[in-house]
Amino acid sequence: MGEMRAELRRACLMGHPVAHSRSPMIHNYWLKQLGIAGVYELKDLTPEEFPAFVRGLGKNGYVGGNVTVPHKEVAFRLAAERDPAAQAVGAVNVLWTENGRLLGGNSDTHGFIANLDERAPAWKVPGCRAVVLGAGGAARAAVYMLRQRGVEVDIVNRTLPRAQELAARFGARPHGTEALPRLLPAADLLVNCTSLGMAGKGALEIDLAPLKRGVVVYDVIYVPLETALLKAARGRGHRAVDGLGMLLHQAGYGFRKWFGGNPKVTPELSAMLEADIVAKTPK
Ligand code: NAP
Repeated sequence: MGEMRAELRRACLMGHPVAHSRSPMIHNYWLKQLGIAGVYELKDLTPEEFPAFVRGLGKNGYVGGNVTVPHKEVAFRLAAERDPAAQAVGAVNVLWTENGRLLGGNSDTHGFIANLDERAPAWKVPGCRAVVLGAGGAARAAVYMLRQRGVEVDIVNRTLPRAQELAARFGARPHGTEALPRLLPAADLLVNCTSLGMAGKGALEIDLAPLKRGVVVYDVIYVPLETALLKAARGRGHRAVDGLGMLLHQAGYGFRKWFGGNPKVTPELSAMLEADIVAKTPK
């Protein structure tokens, strides 16, 4: 009798660099918890190596994977088909195969909104207006999702042309940084999608005094867990949402594609990630 052995399904994170990623911790936790025979690995691939690796993903032993900096736009072009969010945002960060075809999705969009819905229920007030800081990859995901929900969005970015391009794509309004003080009094939601406030980057300096009471302040950064922005927001009595839940919820999207099952963002999983971030973030 041959040995019965479940097929080991393999997925990976493709990027350059990838060494510091917390994705293996998340996926391997769910694999173990759900009793699925699978593994999630890191694949450091240079821009020269990436296209060939993706074209041979199945032959290389993978059912799919995540894509991170600097490969998301190339992954978009390599996918035979994309989900609506990836199509709209112009970036693919999840790849999987169906009937031998390479498909692409964007999970940052799902992660962004699932985290907001979970952590600040009823955030969407009638006539909801959001101010989004930044116009990079995270901002694209955020603005797309907020517009999908019918929110009026003002985009504020250091480089105005980038804000203008993003605003035109999704029907939002673009502004330079100087407009912020006059935009804040009308905001119901303030979202930081710049890299300012992240450990090792510059500080995000904003006076929150003009914000109305009850406004939700969301920082997509998760290192540190409590950015100066969120600390100031909490101090003023605002609801504050950090970026860890966005990372965890976006991970679930890929997991379902590669491994199936129903991965949940449990308090245990969040606590595990929080402990790791605290341990590795310089004070
Ligand atoms: P990105 O594409 O490089 O965009 C960076 C943004 O920050 C741009 O709008 C840029 O403005 C702005 N910025 C950078 N340095 C600045 C400075 N000194 N002054 C003013 N503005 C500055 O990066 P991204 O991929 O969107 O990531 C942004 C942040 O979101 C990162 O901290 C990342 O870790 C986080 N993130 C979190 C998740 C999650 O799951 N929680 C997912 C994605 C990203 P310019 O256009 O003027 O350069």
